[in-house]
Amino acid sequence: VQLARAVLERGREVLLTGSDADRLATELGLATEPPEYFVTDYRVRQLAGLADRTRMELDHDTAEGPGGPPDDDVEEGQTVGAVALDAHGHLAAATSTGGMTNAEVGRVGDSPIVGAGTWASDETCAVSATGAGEYFIRSAFAHDVHARLAWAGVSLDTATRQALDEVVRLGGHGGCVAIDHAGNVATPFTTLAMPRAYQLLSGERRVCVLEPMPGARQ
Ligand code: ASP
Repeated sequence: VQLARAVLERGREVLLTGSDADRLATELGLATEPPEYFVTDYRVRQLAGLADRTRMELDHDTAEGPGGPPDDDVEEGQTVGAVALDAHGHLAAATSTGGMTNAEVGRVGDSPIVGAGTWASDETCAVSATGAGEYFIRSAFAHDVHARLAWAGVSLDTATRQALDEVVRLGGHGGCVAIDHAGNVATPFTTLAMPRAYQLLSGERRVCVLEPMPGARQ
């Protein structure tokens, strides 16, 4: 996310991948890790636990994911999406992904693709998605939420649900966290679980894992 922010601030490219993105991170003095860092016992177990080795699978397809729960003493990085509305009315979104189990080398998921897994526009909303990325790319999910707010004038709750319906219609599944310019929050999902939380300026906080999260106004 820090590197994505640096690319945003440079204002030249929108998307950098592979070794050139690594090089830029090093040039900018950002923390990096070698590929071995990402090969953990938990991730190896996840891959081994995958019943169908011709498919990719999402961590939260089951509450614990293939391979069982993470090791207690190891902090495993998984998908994290964040959206925010600041006091000046600016909206922001960031998506950091744990990826899919058994993904092809070179695969690019939806998370870094603006309009698919991530979107923020001060006029409408900020969206960060999680799920089987190919379907979120095919349906331009995050932009679809924005467009429904901008052109159909529906609520954030309706816009996120309708956009997620389209992902499901294409054969995908997943969810998102989203906030609109008025501070409404929506977190629909079609997976078994999606841990999520919000905090409002009033100090109200809510954390949910399995159950639906009621919409909230600021
Ligand atoms: N959307 C991600 C991908 O397809 C997976 C996730 O982080 O939910 O790579």
